[in-house]
Amino acid sequence: MLLDIQQVSKSYKKGSWALQDINLHLKPGIVGLLGPNGAGKSTLMRILATISQPSSGTVSWNGTDTRKKNDELRRTLGYLPQDFGVYPHLYPVEFLEYVSALKGLDSRKIKSRILEILELLNLHDTLKRPIGNFSGGMRQRIGIAQALLNNPRLLIVDEPTVGLDPEERVRFRNLLTDLSGERIIIFSTHIVSDIEATADQIVILSKGQLLTKSTPSELLHKVHGKVWSVIIADHDLQEARATWTISGTIRREEGLQLRIVSDQPPLPGSIEVSPSLEDAYLYIKTTQEGTFGGSIPHNL
Ligand code: ADP
Repeated sequence: MLLDIQQVSKSYKKGSWALQDINLHLKPGIVGLLGPNGAGKSTLMRILATISQPSSGTVSWNGTDTRKKNDELRRTLGYLPQDFGVYPHLYPVEFLEYVSALKGLDSRKIKSRILEILELLNLHDTLKRPIGNFSGGMRQRIGIAQALLNNPRLLIVDEPTVGLDPEERVRFRNLLTDLSGERIIIFSTHIVSDIEATADQIVILSKGQLLTKSTPSELLHKVHGKVWSVIIADHDLQEARATWTISGTIRREEGLQLRIVSDQPPLPGSIEVSPSLEDAYLYIKTTQEGTFGGSIPHNL
């Protein structure tokens, strides 16, 4: 099982690129696609889901160019788009039967599959409630349920944690882990902690470009020895913000405690601290976007 993305670019309007020269070779596991809003995540996911075509480049599924032949990929694809809408008056089973019919799935086998998925997603207690009464987290699980109807080998979920409360986020992340195994799961987010606990591979996109593809531990390694804690006076904050890459600010009795990502100790009294993925993300983003000047990354 291999999803191969070669030199993929997408332009919606002349002279600007939503994606530029993306190369990725993806195998089974959870891939966290991380990047700020507008980075190109949804554009890439729509191309992978064969809803949109790249302006140039190829996407191959198990060696077949999906532009030439996409039925094999479509048969085994599960997709949860960012703007997933439900029919509020339908009950979960009705809704999933409706989606199954649209997907052309075998109606004789589908009832038991639906009940199995509702059980897996811990939605079996909700069968007597219309979807319109569901919480955000329950709706997202219905979204995942519809994406799982065909037991996909490629599952693409676009910003699935938007609008979820902290508890629902954790449950959703655990669910993705439960679903991993013999499939490729691509999960986009702009929130680092979403992928911290789940992704085997982290792909960082920014301004349509691929900044890195690494494991979480490789990313942490990149920023090892480059994260510092230092206390400054309140009135120095503005200058510090303009000068350093700051990944955290906490008010203390002595002043403001900053967490700074920098190759060198940024200020006298700086103490080295253990890096987090958030620090690594900021470091990669700053250095790879070309705004990195020596040891002083700046202005995110
Ligand atoms: P993300 O999912 O990371 O927020 P998107 O893929 O939605 O990023 O957007 C990448 C860029 O492409 C943005 O500049 C966005 O405005 C632009 N874009 C996305 N979809 C369209 C579209 N249908 N038409 C024109 N521009 C678009």
